[in-house]
Amino acid sequence: MENENKELYSKTYSFAPYEQSRHNTKKYKPNEYDVIIAGAGLSGLSCAFELASKNKRILILETHPYAGGRTSSFDDNGMKVESGLHRYIGYYSALPSLLKQCGVKINDIVTWEEKTDVLIKKQNKKLVLGVAPFFGFIKTARSILGNNEVLSARDKLSLMPFFLSGFTSYVFSDRLDKYSVAEYANRHKVSEKAKRLILEPLSTGIFFRPPENYSAYAFFGLFAPAIPKFYKMRIGAYLGGMTDLMCNPIVKKVQSLGGEFHFKEPVDSVIVKDGGVVGVKTKSNKEYFAEQTVIATTLPAAKKILNPLADRRELIKLFRLPCMSSCSFQLELDRPSMKKDITTFGPGTDLVSLAEQSRTTFRESKGRLSVILGNAKEYSNKQTEEILPSVLKQLNSLGIHLDGHIIDARKVSEENDFYSLDKGNQHLRPRQRTGIKGLTLAGDYTLTSSFATMEGAVKSGKKAAKNCLQSL
Ligand SMILES: Cc1cc2nc3c(=O)[nH]c(=O)nc-3n(C[C@H](O)[C@H](O)[C@H](O)COP(=O)(O)OP(=O)(O)OC[C@H]3O[C@@H](n4cnc5c(N)ncnc54)[C@H](O)[C@@H]3O)c2cc1C
Repeated sequence: MENENKELYSKTYSFAPYEQSRHNTKKYKPNEYDVIIAGAGLSGLSCAFELASKNKRILILETHPYAGGRTSSFDDNGMKVESGLHRYIGYYSALPSLLKQCGVKINDIVTWEEKTDVLIKKQNKKLVLGVAPFFGFIKTARSILGNNEVLSARDKLSLMPFFLSGFTSYVFSDRLDKYSVAEYANRHKVSEKAKRLILEPLSTGIFFRPPENYSAYAFFGLFAPAIPKFYKMRIGAYLGGMTDLMCNPIVKKVQSLGGEFHFKEPVDSVIVKDGGVVGVKTKSNKEYFAEQTVIATTLPAAKKILNPLADRRELIKLFRLPCMSSCSFQLELDRPSMKKDITTFGPGTDLVSLAEQSRTTFRESKGRLSVILGNAKEYSNKQTEEILPSVLKQLNSLGIHLDGHIIDARKVSEENDFYSLDKGNQHLRPRQRTGIKGLTLAGDYTLTSSFATMEGAVKSGKKAAKNCLQSL
């Protein structure tokens, strides 16, 4: 796989000298590309694929030397890491469809989980949540009827009005976004235990925000598609690095269709002419021109790139949409940390979700633990060595003892990489079509029927491509 990567990127860089001389002498032709895409995350890649398949001349400019953005895997000073623990949800449709068109079958790259574990702090007990009503019917039924040692029938029943009312409200309006998960749970009298052991893992464990902040709209919106597609529901753990398994095949396909990738070439700003966008200027002062420019970066990067248009009312939502940080902590071990590689939650600790990965994603490792940290903003400002003692202490409280087994550790974090899933922000998600000539947006923060997920990113890229095609 490593050799394959080298080939991919050396092929990519082969464009560079040509670009260099062309731009130094300023002999570029305006509109030599139909579309320029800033960002090779899943949204940029999905947009690139749609456009390249329609024979459009496209250029993708990416900051990093690899594709995938928040869905990537890379080498961090000698340790293989991923952007963070990722799970594929069985009801996704846009992502598997894109992958299929690039020659990747989802069943070949993930292993399916039918249950998840919720570890109970300081009690050496766990609650098992079945997540595959069709494929793992018995496990799902057991998790509803069982778990009685940790969750009483009263606790379980207290969740029913919450879920029934929540899913109904989600389908018929977006007023749920007025409430946080905790507020909505209190309105429906969910018991304290059910809030802590079920709602906290399903909110903080997935989008790092505590139930007190996390929007009830995003909470129900993430699970709602699973209801009509219950027969598809299960969770996929990747069988290798996401850049290798998913992103590089898309890059290769786009290249085979004539698309150009320039890695390690960050975009600085859009070039504005007569009120419209005509191209981009890179951080190394090169200028590229195209009929359409798609900004498919993270939200804070998009705000910087679009700064020349900051006073335009068409972009008011984008500039007002707040961001939040994520922070992942990855441990290389001399033995597995847990008996199985399955999604695990640690309510009441900052280890909001975690998984052993040495039998799945990092099979070359003897032991490999990936943890998503709550209180991400606080952790993202700390060094790996500062975080490690606190992570180990909290792992101990969950019954995972790793002292003397750690070979290496990394914090992986990019500040403010997500749009904020706190309540009240849904109406600020901008559409892909901006109303500004030549400018389209893509990214999981733009408005789709999904949230900040791989599926949402792919859908946003498709919508962005459709918008470009209508304007070309
Ligand atoms: C820790 C973590 C766990 C997650 N878990 C899951 C999960 O379990 N399931 C799930 O479905 N989703 C998960 N996600 C979310 C998913 O990864 C994202 O929704 C998706 O990757 C977003 O894709 P994107 O293209 O919108 O943005 P990104 O992937 O962020 O892509 C943006 C790209 O733009 C590039 N860029 C930035 N600035 C510039 C610039 N100036 N010029 C050029 N390029 C630039 C970046 O390098 C990046 O490649 C998780 C994310 C994280 C971080």
